[in-house]
Amino acid sequence: MEKVLVTGAGGFIGSHLVTYLKERGYWVRGVDQKLPEFSETDADEFEVLDLRRYDNCLQATRGVNHVYALAADMGGMGFISANHGTILRNNALIDLHTFEAARINGVSRYLYTSSACIYPEHLQTESQVAGLKESDAFPAAPQDAYGWEKILGELINRYGGEEFGIDTRTVRFHNIYGPNGTFQGGREKAPAALCRKVALAEPGGEIEVWGDGEQTRSFCYIDDCVEGIYRLMMSDYTGPLNLGTDEMVSINQLAEIIIGISGKPGITIRHVDGPQGVRGRNSDNSLLRQVLGWEPKTSLEEGLTPTYRWIEKQVANSGR
Ligand code: NAD
Repeated sequence: MEKVLVTGAGGFIGSHLVTYLKERGYWVRGVDQKLPEFSETDADEFEVLDLRRYDNCLQATRGVNHVYALAADMGGMGFISANHGTILRNNALIDLHTFEAARINGVSRYLYTSSACIYPEHLQTESQVAGLKESDAFPAAPQDAYGWEKILGELINRYGGEEFGIDTRTVRFHNIYGPNGTFQGGREKAPAALCRKVALAEPGGEIEVWGDGEQTRSFCYIDDCVEGIYRLMMSDYTGPLNLGTDEMVSINQLAEIIIGISGKPGITIRHVDGPQGVRGRNSDNSLLRQVLGWEPKTSLEEGLTPTYRWIEKQVANSGR
């Protein structure tokens, strides 16, 4: 049986990926500095380790054929815009040490999870933007330290793979959302934060949106995300690949969809100061379609419905 490691297995995408890989018959080791918050892990083995440390990375990568490297110190715009030094340091340590340990332990295939945040800020200054192509990444000029570090991670993967004979994959996620993701505490991203705000609002009440809400993004449902990760891992494509939808909406539109799903009448949006990230961003999926013959298929309405219902339940259970 193929043995695989998922790092960041206590997190949102990692915990879903563990379940997906188990359903396909893999033996899975999950590693994270914490257990999954909202569900039991489906991993055969779960080790709580700080992957900034090289000795822990050696322990994590022993005896596995494939590594899905998802561990990262990350969050939504509120977190990313306020912790540049910490993010750069922690994620660079995780990425260098995990890759090196995988090399020492003879891992044959290694998937690195990068982000749309690596794309140059100057291509994302208008709400109505063209989708970002993989080839737009260089010359590099991302907005934040988070994006710069992801570029480093991509390069560790690319050059390390070429020189040391490891079969590498690099995926660039565009705003993944779904149940079992962080929805409070400061690291939550826009879809989860808006679901929480709407779940907490009374009919006829209001919710806060950061900025004027005309900033745009595309959002990808978690089921499509894990399927895309797996399809890429099984492909023979070694270059970086977008994984997202090209259904671009403004944050105001996103909020309106969630308000509609909630069924609560009369909820209005109040715009307040807050970090917004780039002004506009969308994924160009041409290469994704070409390489995998596939792209995410869940519409925003379809994906936000279970996401909202799950967050609504968490909010109700916490008695707020
Ligand atoms: P997440 O925060 O839910 O999961 C990341 C996990 O990494 C967390 O469980 C965290 O505890 C773990 N981690 C952090 N520091 C660690 C350390 N020192 N040792 C061990 N584990 C550590 O985030 P996610 O949304 O599941 O993201 C997974 C990956 O995808 C990350 O690399 C992230 O940068 C990338 N990504 C996510 C998105 C998105 O929209 N969710 C977008 C672009 C890129």
